[in-house]
Amino acid sequence: GRTIGILGGGQLGRMMAVSAAQLGYRCIAYAPEGDNVVSDVCDDIFTNKWDDAAAVAAFAAQCDAVTWEFENVPVATAALIPDDRIFPHPRALETAQDRLNEKRFVEGLGGRPAAYARIDSRADLEAAIDTLGAPGILKTRRDGYDGKGQWRIGSDRDAQGLNLLDMPLIYEAFVEFEAEFSVILVRGQDGEIRFWDSTRNSHDHGILATSSLPAGEAIAAQVDEARELARQVADALRYVGVLTLEFFATRNGPVFNEMAPRVHNSGHWTIEGAATSQFENHIRAVAGLPLGSTATVARSVTMTNIIGSDILETEQWLGQPDTHLHDYGKAEVRDGRKMGHVTKLER
Ligand code: ATP
Ligand code: MG
Ligand code: MG
Repeated sequence: GRTIGILGGGQLGRMMAVSAAQLGYRCIAYAPEGDNVVSDVCDDIFTNKWDDAAAVAAFAAQCDAVTWEFENVPVATAALIPDDRIFPHPRALETAQDRLNEKRFVEGLGGRPAAYARIDSRADLEAAIDTLGAPGILKTRRDGYDGKGQWRIGSDRDAQGLNLLDMPLIYEAFVEFEAEFSVILVRGQDGEIRFWDSTRNSHDHGILATSSLPAGEAIAAQVDEARELARQVADALRYVGVLTLEFFATRNGPVFNEMAPRVHNSGHWTIEGAATSQFENHIRAVAGLPLGSTATVARSVTMTNIIGSDILETEQWLGQPDTHLHDYGKAEVRDGRKMGHVTKLER
């Protein structure tokens, strides 16, 4: 059989399934959250809970290979799937799901994150502000995305006014960066690694707004060092598939922000802008096929996210040359929700 199982039911899974279909694979999805956007591209959707071991086993039994599109798949769920059938290995989830683990792991490989401190109490936060200073950012160690679960701390007065959550946190010094960029790579089952060009990423209220090429001087000068770290991370995890590391370009070189053990929003431009997209190469790696070229095929590329109700006004994009609209087909429009994206090229 030629079936790929996808854990998670969001837009990343949707775009993976489209690429898989092109390569002659059918996909099924395991998507416990109700509002999935994979039902029109996957043959079957398991809506069982993450901890339903029998359902996970039945799902995996139908698949030649299983992967994930959601970085918060419980490690215990991924671990139920035989090691030779799940790619990447669940150790990548384990490393990346906790910001403290992730930073320690990357530091161990020579990476440099922003100065940070582990926060388990108000006293920890006060001590951290004393030693690392303010401004800084307080983040939940787990489950944050799109800037959710983070608070900008301008001064120790801000910290006093804050109702500290009863969950493990981390405090990071604020990085005065020149630009943000990501390194996206694919690693095959034989250990071969290929990198896409690094885009300049701009954020709005903690949510990715645009990714563009060329990325500019500040980023171009730091990409090699950032790639070297990403390669170390991928090799250490014996990673298979697409892996993303986010960086700040600073006057003192690349500062590691976070990693995502999956295809990434800042790589959506590769669908039209690269010889092989991140989704296609992810499926190739997971299925054990040879990797495709990651070369950029345009002079310039801009990917713009469509957030919330902007998805109701997409005609403006459809009239523009070499401009490609992706509507994820989400049933419910919500403020701050990623509803689609558009990629504009200049060849
Ligand atoms: P994602 O959706 O990328 O997973 P996330 O919720 O995990 O986002 P981060 O990547 O940690 O959040 O932060 C979101 C954005 O906030 C960053 O891209 C950056 O613009 C800003 N930011 C985060 N940490 C810092 C920092 N220490 N200094 C300066 N800016 C920061
Ligand atoms: Mg994140
Ligand atoms: Mg991020």
